[in-house]
Amino acid sequence: MLLFQKGLNYSQDGRGNRMVYHLVGCNMRCPWCANPEGIKAGGTILTKGGIPRRSWHEYSVDQLISEAVSLKDMFFDGGGVTLTGGEPTLWTDEALSLLDGLRREGIHTTVETNATSPIFDKFVASTDCMIMDFKTPNAHKHLAYTGVDVEIVKKNISYALDNHPDVLIRTPLINGVNTSDEDMREFVKFYTSHDTSHARFEFLKYHDYGAVKWAECSLPYTMPPDSFVSDEVVEKFAKYYIDHSLVVIRT
Ligand code: SF4
Repeated sequence: MLLFQKGLNYSQDGRGNRMVYHLVGCNMRCPWCANPEGIKAGGTILTKGGIPRRSWHEYSVDQLISEAVSLKDMFFDGGGVTLTGGEPTLWTDEALSLLDGLRREGIHTTVETNATSPIFDKFVASTDCMIMDFKTPNAHKHLAYTGVDVEIVKKNISYALDNHPDVLIRTPLINGVNTSDEDMREFVKFYTSHDTSHARFEFLKYHDYGAVKWAECSLPYTMPPDSFVSDEVVEKFAKYYIDHSLVVIRT
């Protein structure tokens, strides 16, 4: 498996202290992506100060399981291992083997996904916590911004809400993309057509920390300067969600 980043963090990508593996490759093309070096299948060459370097390192499934086992004492407060990306579900068989191996070792597993996998049910069955990033339920905007049809995303999020006991849905709030009152109502209308008693919701304010990496990948960063959102917008969303009995978390 190719990883472009790995490291321990607390409570940012799942519960507790976790080893987070960022897998190379994504099928979406979000222009705000904070990890552009993780988008291209096979990895990217980054150039900084005229010096090129590979974005990726290669590991076997067994190597990653052994590493996680050696870190077990670090997985406090409900921690474990998170697979993210890029889009980790693109590593179908390897990712499922890794998840199964970690669970056999008693390690809590989380997958952070854009919810486009055609074998999503297998990931739902193999993972202790599903984190799903949902950019917008609006079909036109989803296709325009990510390059992917929203229907598979809605189908998979629906499946997870209906079948998984621990679901976190994350939305990056981006001015001009998904922060209008109509956007907000469309999100909530979709969620409240399901049982959300075991789901949590989180908003991530747009940032441009990844812009420098787009330059290092020799790619143009096209997000307009007015893409940032205020705390008031986040609070507007949080209040509307809570008013509709959705659980909003802040990390
Ligand atoms: S789905 Fe995530 S990893 Fe993929 S391009 Fe979008 S923001 Fe980046």
